[in-house]
Amino acid sequence: MPTPLARKIAELIRRNGPISVADYFAMCLADPEYGYYRTREPFGRSGDFVTSPEISQLFGEMVGVFFVHAWQAHGRPAQLNLTEIGPGRGTLMADALRTIGRLAPDMLDAAQIHLVETSERLSGVQRQTLLRYKEKIAWHEDFATTPARFTLLVANEFFDAIPIRQFINTGQGFHERTVRLGQSGELEFAMGPAGIDPSLLPARGEGARPGAIFEAAPARTAIMQTIAERLAQYGGSALTIDYGHLVSSYGDTLQALYRHEYDLPLLRPGEADLTSHVDFEALAVAAIAAGCHAHRPLTQGDFLVGLGILERAGALGAGADSLTRASIQDAVNRLAGVGAGKMGELFKVLCVSGTPLALSPFDIPTKQTGAN
Ligand code: SAH
Repeated sequence: MPTPLARKIAELIRRNGPISVADYFAMCLADPEYGYYRTREPFGRSGDFVTSPEISQLFGEMVGVFFVHAWQAHGRPAQLNLTEIGPGRGTLMADALRTIGRLAPDMLDAAQIHLVETSERLSGVQRQTLLRYKEKIAWHEDFATTPARFTLLVANEFFDAIPIRQFINTGQGFHERTVRLGQSGELEFAMGPAGIDPSLLPARGEGARPGAIFEAAPARTAIMQTIAERLAQYGGSALTIDYGHLVSSYGDTLQALYRHEYDLPLLRPGEADLTSHVDFEALAVAAIAAGCHAHRPLTQGDFLVGLGILERAGALGAGADSLTRASIQDAVNRLAGVGAGKMGELFKVLCVSGTPLALSPFDIPTKQTGAN
């Protein structure tokens, strides 16, 4: 049975012709009637996936620790935005704010909280989770409308939900992948006429092979550019945490998740989550071009261990019963461990800052190479 959104997309294609993967992606997640984030509860056991902040409070706490370090390293600005893009249920921000309140109450007093969220339903959930901070919080649909001042920002599993375009090596150059109607009216992938400027293709890797796929994400780059321009002008740092690759390369990473299982991307539009891996190199290049410094990226495991997740887990477990201790240990393993089903290595953390400063747990920033 096609989903209601599959019928809507089929009708659109019947009228106007094939659509790009980017348009398909955007409709799946954000269609005003049937889009995934508009209608579904994606998180948790009954949803389709579990994100780091929903696994354990330790994750948001470590982001809180990072924010305190960063605020101090930036010279304790008297006014600051604490901004999150794509806050989901608001769990990460709640855990981070509790930690900031404990470690640096003056920082919490100075902070204004800005949540950037396009789903009305999820902003409602965030409002509930963060009720005790309601005087300090403003919601936005776009980062650009957050007030222009010093900003510390986090985006966890946000960029993977922003649409990508796909280009396939046909043997006669790269052509854009589209979605069309098959013989019996089902959605299927096809090749469109649009090409891509070869200078935008990564030189390394498997690009020369017919069938190779390159994913370009102009919408992601544009968001990073807006953030980086703000940081370069007003100061601050931004953390991007997501699954993806540190170096731009080739490969089809479009994936659908339905009830914790991989699903075919065209099978259940609007009902399955649709994402793709994040190209961290592309994001770093965009930030550098906008005048920011990109710190050397870390794996999520190194990021969390560097901020003291093991010590914090020990403190949480001390005095707890053995069942609680085991579940804390299990959470640390999932968040920071390596191997199947663990997030410590698959997930990467990119930090960009408006000024070149050393930020724990990242290295001394690499030299700027972009236009500036
Ligand atoms: N950070 C959360 C949620 C990740 S899911 C967590 O880790 O649990 C992606 C989030 O991004 C959802 O809140 C979704 O509604 C939001 N989102 C998707 N597209 C967006 C856009 N263009 N602008 C702002 N938020 C968006």
